[in-house]
Formats: sequence, C-alpha cells, structure tokens
Amino acid sequence: MVLLDGKALSLKILNNVKEKVSKLDRIPHLVVILVGDDSASKIYVNNKKKAAEKVGIKSTVIELPSDTNENDLLDKIQELNNNDDVTGILVQLPLPEQIDKNKIITAISPKKDVDGFSPENVGRLATGLEPYFYPATPQGIIMLLDEYGIKIEGKDAVILGRSNIVGKPMAQMLLKRNATVTICHSYTKEIEDKIKTADILISAVGKKIVRCKMGYKNSVVIDVGIHRDSNGKLTGDVDFDYVSPSCGFISPVPGGVGPMTIASLMFNASKVYN
Ligand code: NAP
Repeated sequence: MVLLDGKALSLKILNNVKEKVSKLDRIPHLVVILVGDDSASKIYVNNKKKAAEKVGIKSTVIELPSDTNENDLLDKIQELNNNDDVTGILVQLPLPEQIDKNKIITAISPKKDVDGFSPENVGRLATGLEPYFYPATPQGIIMLLDEYGIKIEGKDAVILGRSNIVGKPMAQMLLKRNATVTICHSYTKEIEDKIKTADILISAVGKKIVRCKMGYKNSVVIDVGIHRDSNGKLTGDVDFDYVSPSCGFISPVPGGVGPMTIASLMFNASKVYN
C-alpha cells in the first residue's frame, strides 16, 4: 500500500507557484472577503493569506460585520470586479443567513473566481470548455493522482458526496479524464457494494463512512473528509487502519487532501486574466 503524501506534493507545488509568480510581469492580488466572525472561517482565511504571502501573491482580507446586507456585499464584489489591480476574489463560506450565497458567487467575475464556483466556470467545466479556474479541492486531488502516476482513463470512480465544492466538480473532472463515474449521496442504497466496485474511491461526506475492505487490491482511496472524532482528534471519512491493507494507494488525514487544497488554491491565485 502506498501512502499518497499530499503534504510533500503541496510543498512542491507551492515552490513551483512561487517561482512562476516571481517571473510574472505583475504581482497577482487575491482579495478574500470574510463576513461575520465564525472562528473556523477566520482560521481558513488566515491560512489562505499566509499561503499567498509565502508564494509572493499579494493578499488582502476584507472583514465585514455579520449583519452586512446582501446589496452591500454585492456592491463590494462589483467594485473588486472593476478594480484592475485585483486578480482574484474569494468569498469565504458559509455566509450569514440574510445573504444568498448563490447570488454572491454569481456576482464574482468568472476571470477572478479563484474558487471556480461561479456558474460560468461550473458550466464551462460541465460542457467541456476550459474553465478559468477549477475548484481547488478536486483539482488538488487530480494533481495528487497524477503525481503518483495513477491512471484515471477507463477506471471506475466512485464519489461519496455531491456538494458543489467537492463531489460534483470532482465527478466532472474525472469524466473529463475518461473515468466512469458513480456519485453517491445520502439517498444512495447499498453504498458498501458501490464502494467495493471502485478503482478510485473519493469520499467527501464528513462522517466515518468507509469501513469496508476495498474490492480491488490496486484500488485508490482518497479521503477528503475532515472532522473530529469523539476524542477531539482530527480524522477523515475512511477507517484508515481497516481499509488501508485492502487497497493500493490511500491518502491520510491529516496530510492528504487538506494541504493539496491550499496548494491548488494558490496555483489558481497565481493565474492572471485581467
Ligand atoms: P457537504 O456539503 O457537507 O455534503 C456532504 C455530502 O455527503 C452530501 O452530498 C450528502 O448527501 C452526503 N452524505 C451525507 N451522509 C451520507 C451518507 N450516510 N451516505 C452517503 N452520502 C452522505 O460536503 P463537502 O462540503 O463536500 O464536505 C465534505 C467533507 O469534506 C467535510 O468533512 C469537509 O470538512 C471536507 N472537506 C475537506 C476539504 C479539504 O481540503 N480536505 C475541502 C472541502 C471539504 P446529500 O447531498 O444527499 O445531503
């Protein structure tokens, strides 16, 4: 069994991004908007800012109060869309309930939408056009598979979870690479049977859901989940000790998809379209 070392690859990617940025004619500028004071969101935003600084990308965090109204946030996004100095815009989710997340995501210029969540980028991916940005987590997973020489074409991929940020774009990206994709969610019957058919299993649920032996000894298990167990320890969706002897490759938590997501986001933030 081979451990897919996301930590090591993320450092390599961040170094490549740093080198690329140092050769650009202009410094990319990422603006992260944080609305409210959710403590987890603050940590994520801070990590993104630190990562950007490390690779030479200028970053600005705009903190808005939790009672910010939707129109004010839309105006702010419009202002950033029109500001030629700004090359990337990211709105940290979740947003307070008075703000419609979809309206906000739709307002971000597709050429500055470093998260790749805007309808134009999602639609481009789904229709086979090149999106300006691929969503960071699935893009990071593809980078990890490629780094280890894992063939995607012709493989049976099973994805657990259908969120807009992981499950659905992951399915599109694997389809684009000619995998046969099955997406499972909370209404799916006999999930274990489906897991066992996977050459590539990607779990993005947020619960310890993968607790069976894999069907093929060369199968690949990617654990996207991040949550805490009853002892407060950081864990993923996969019962690592039980599942790992039955597969060929597996990503750990921590040290797998998590660092790849941030490296992939910086890869996106280094792209300049305007
Ligand atoms: P999410 O929006 O929380 O949705 C979870 C998905 O899991 C939903 O599609 C849900 O189905 C499905 N699900 C729930 N219970 C299930 C069950 N018993 N069997 C099958 N499917 C089930 O998903 P997310 O935002 O993608 O996050 C998923 C996990 O990945 C979380 O732990 C999150 O923290 C982690 N995450 C990690 C990274 C990283 O960088 N490592 C990045 C993003 C997310 P329904 O659609 O039917 O409700």
